[in-house]
Amino acid sequence: MKLYIETVGCQMNELDSELVVASLRKDGYELTASPHDADTILFNTCSVRQHAEDKIYSALGRLKNAKREHPGKVIGVLGCMAQKDQGLIFKRAPYVDLIVGPGQLHQVPGLVREIRAGGGQRMEVSLNRKDGTREQIERSHESFDPLRDPAMRPTPYQAYVRIMIGCDKFCTYCIVPSVRGPEQSRPPADIVAESRQLANEGCREIILLGQTVNSYKYREGDHTWRLSDLLASLHDIEGIQRIKFVTNYPKDMTNDLLAAVRDLPKVAKYLHVPAQSGSNDVLARMKRGYTVEDYREMIARTKEWMPGVAVSSDFIVGFCGETDAEFQLTMDLVRECRFKNSFIFKYSERPGTKGAELYPDDVPDEVKRRRNHELLALQNEISEADNHAFIGREVEVLIEGPSKAAEKEAAAADAEAPSPNGPLQLTGRTHCDRIVVFEGNPRQIGHTLPIIIYDANAHTLFGEIATRHSGPELFTLSVPLQTA
Ligand code: SF4
Repeated sequence: MKLYIETVGCQMNELDSELVVASLRKDGYELTASPHDADTILFNTCSVRQHAEDKIYSALGRLKNAKREHPGKVIGVLGCMAQKDQGLIFKRAPYVDLIVGPGQLHQVPGLVREIRAGGGQRMEVSLNRKDGTREQIERSHESFDPLRDPAMRPTPYQAYVRIMIGCDKFCTYCIVPSVRGPEQSRPPADIVAESRQLANEGCREIILLGQTVNSYKYREGDHTWRLSDLLASLHDIEGIQRIKFVTNYPKDMTNDLLAAVRDLPKVAKYLHVPAQSGSNDVLARMKRGYTVEDYREMIARTKEWMPGVAVSSDFIVGFCGETDAEFQLTMDLVRECRFKNSFIFKYSERPGTKGAELYPDDVPDEVKRRRNHELLALQNEISEADNHAFIGREVEVLIEGPSKAAEKEAAAADAEAPSPNGPLQLTGRTHCDRIVVFEGNPRQIGHTLPIIIYDANAHTLFGEIATRHSGPELFTLSVPLQTA
């Protein structure tokens, strides 16, 4: 049986897809890269922007004929759009067999089996935020974590680990609290056990995931575990070389967490802390719960405690009522904070959010587009200048695999897997999350090597592996090569 799965959206969705694939493999499925020869086609969807939803509805439209010709194919919609649109998906695409919200993904294998046995269309979603007590709603958004599938990870050396689900912040533009349910933290013992298992499978870097990952709190007897405690426990796991966590909520960037990032060598000196806007009025309309002054203070504290730390951010441009003057305040914030990079989005109204209810989406699209370009150009200028400062420096790089260019070249040549010894353009990341590209050897993938940077642009550092002069005519690699 062949499974095709397409994933849209954030890292949380990538992890969910990994877990769904692992559970379907137990039922005998293998992955295929094409929907045409798949017995089951799944879309793991995102609802954060209209564009992401439109993409899925068009993909479903393209499958109408395939389903008519092969009625045995199972077509399923999973994730946030499934939770948000529920039965509407059956109305818009009646040939869809399965709708499963993010809190019910553990049911996917059973539901697919039932459909195959002639059980007809099936839908499993969690309770909406107003349809029960907090406890009932929490229970209906079950986390789905134990099964892992190395083949679905970004690389075999990196893995996402979910430490919490849901969100209680209710920013006015955001649909996440409705579709992912209340904020719930996983027990630390489960997270440590899962990370240990990943380390035993050869994983070197774990990326802890949560919508507001630094709001992590788990009560155990008299003790409340915070993210800083969790980082300290994960730091002890042998084999794990690097720990990252995304995404942070600015107000929860507490001193104990900054101290943990500063003092634990395996924790990346990189923080993703979305600011969203540089205007207090816009932040208030977004109900972000902090002011620009709070955000500036947090950044100043972070940089004072950890000189050289890299911080990245998210921004929404063209939020309801955003004036040119308010947008310029965002430009000022970006100039001042010098983010490593920023993810910039045009505001997209989401039905079901407070923003859609309270404020008209009144910034014209061409203004949103112009602000997007302007902010991106400023950010790129800053990223390029700050990356140039790395030229001539030696950085430690955890090597992830072939570079995108090398992968493209291999695909174009229809090449088989690279020879284990041949030279290959590789990519990896520094401790502060900067992408580095250099010529290496496939055996080095998964290792940490010193790289000397000789060039840079806004997105990438270019380097070569550092060698040491260890004798009159002898140069050696500073880290001995090991076979993978
Ligand atoms: S903090 Fe705000 S933007 Fe982030 S997931 Fe929660 S509601 Fe959405």
